[in-house]
Amino acid sequence: MTHFDLHSHSTASDGTLTPTELVRHAHDAGVGTLALTDHDTTEGISEARQAATRLDLGLIAGVEISVTWSGQTVHIVGLNLDTENARLQEGLAGLREFRDWRAREIGKRLEKASIPGAYAGALALSNGRLVSRTHFARFLADNGHAKDVRDVFKHFLVNGKPGHVAGEWAPLAEAVSWIRDAGGQAVIAHPARYRMTRTKLRKLIEAFRDAGGEALEVVSGSHSRDEAFTMARHAKDFDLLGSAGSDYHGPENPWIEMGRLDALPPGCKPIWYDWSPAVKVR
Ligand code: AMP
Ligand code: MN
Ligand code: MN
Ligand code: MN
Repeated sequence: MTHFDLHSHSTASDGTLTPTELVRHAHDAGVGTLALTDHDTTEGISEARQAATRLDLGLIAGVEISVTWSGQTVHIVGLNLDTENARLQEGLAGLREFRDWRAREIGKRLEKASIPGAYAGALALSNGRLVSRTHFARFLADNGHAKDVRDVFKHFLVNGKPGHVAGEWAPLAEAVSWIRDAGGQAVIAHPARYRMTRTKLRKLIEAFRDAGGEALEVVSGSHSRDEAFTMARHAKDFDLLGSAGSDYHGPENPWIEMGRLDALPPGCKPIWYDWSPAVKVR
């Protein structure tokens, strides 16, 4: 059966491969169906689709939407979207506006912490596309302010650190409704990665299901096998489907590779169970 990887990033957000390079890499790694799910944009989809058609790879039009739920940032993946949908695009445009404001603000705060030029540096690394904290992290790491990207997050970009900027992303129910409005399916991304108690995570899953969400990303490049089994249990309890995605951002993060995802745990119904071959290449 074809290998599904339903979570990946390109240079349209904070990945380092262009959509064309990403699709080629996925194909070489044995992925049969790939979803491009850039943060808050579908900008890379048309290029990815063209590359996928040339290689006969199934390309799912996706997105990873930034959401604030109960004071915490949560990521919701949308799959099989009509990227022309106006409500979806208006919603994403609003999030990118917040991102632009936040990027300037992060730059100002780092400036005060004696790190000049971070906004310009991050902007340059983003090639004029969407600016993510990842671009700030790369700029700071490249300029010797920390030993690597992870270290920059830890010391500069998270709550309580000099370059942290709080703010509100999309409400959960709205993000899910944009996805559904665009004919897509909503998935909670990497559910084991949120700093939540089991009780709080189950509240999130319940609110997500009540809003029309369909699946949990049970298998993720950032989940252990144990976590995958725990998430499969939650999916079953809430009658949700299971998804699988690497969250690949490029070859600089060699601990996450494409084409190597484990199978969904037994009894976990895959989100692709009723996808037609036509949907897979839409
Ligand atoms: P943003 O959406 O701009 O706030 O950036 C979030 C992105 O930063 C995530 O999608 C990850 O790619 C990256 N990220 C978040 N935390 C870390 C971390 N601790 N180490 C490395 N990358 C991270
Ligand atoms: Mn990212
Ligand atoms: Mn994410
Ligand atoms: Mn992601």
